[in-house]
Amino acid sequence: MWDAAGIKQRLEAAYGPPPSRLPLDTISELVLGILSQNTSDRNSRPAFRALKAAFTHWEDVAQAHETEIAEAIRPAGLHHTKARYIKVAVQRVVEQGGGNGHHHGPSLDFLASIPVEKALAYLEALPGVGPKTARIVLLFGMGIPVFPVDTHVHRVSQRLGIIGPRASREQAHRVLEQFFPPDDYYFVHMLLIQHGRRTCVARKPRCQACALAEECTYYQSIQEGSK
Ligand code: SF4
Repeated sequence: MWDAAGIKQRLEAAYGPPPSRLPLDTISELVLGILSQNTSDRNSRPAFRALKAAFTHWEDVAQAHETEIAEAIRPAGLHHTKARYIKVAVQRVVEQGGGNGHHHGPSLDFLASIPVEKALAYLEALPGVGPKTARIVLLFGMGIPVFPVDTHVHRVSQRLGIIGPRASREQAHRVLEQFFPPDDYYFVHMLLIQHGRRTCVARKPRCQACALAEECTYYQSIQEGSK
């Protein structure tokens, strides 16, 4: 039976501690989340940098024409759709009380002072923002303990047997939030992504080299199948 501490320990021994991310402001996390859908960091990061270079303030993005935003974020792919999402999402944050009343400009910091479920609902109502992006904004941008589940985290936790074989990504968020201690969410999220990229890869997981094989449901089922 899995224990959360054991998984963290073994993954950390295998990959080392995850790098700490440079903290971004919450709107940046939101925009980066929209940009990174259906593409890799290699495309979304340059697109984000280009957007920041093209527009000085978030208010400028809110007022810009969609095509100007699309032009700036072209490397991210699906740039017309993402430009529309970004414009509307940023506009809504700027208009709907996202401003903190200070000279720092608009922000999503108010989400830290309302219940987590409400904060998630606010974010998920923005265009182009799903459960994963909403959680990334809260966890990465504000340190609020929620567990983002991307395709790697979903696949790995399914194979390990932490979540059921048919658990959706939405259900996985809840199960993993119960399973791991809140203080470990960031660390374990990053470690599971590493594991999914390097060892528990989608098509042919490298179970022979895996630090978690002993107790992995998927690995055990293969072993039993080959007996
Ligand atoms: S044993 Fe195989 S399937 Fe299980 S976690 Fe490791 S690599 Fe993934």
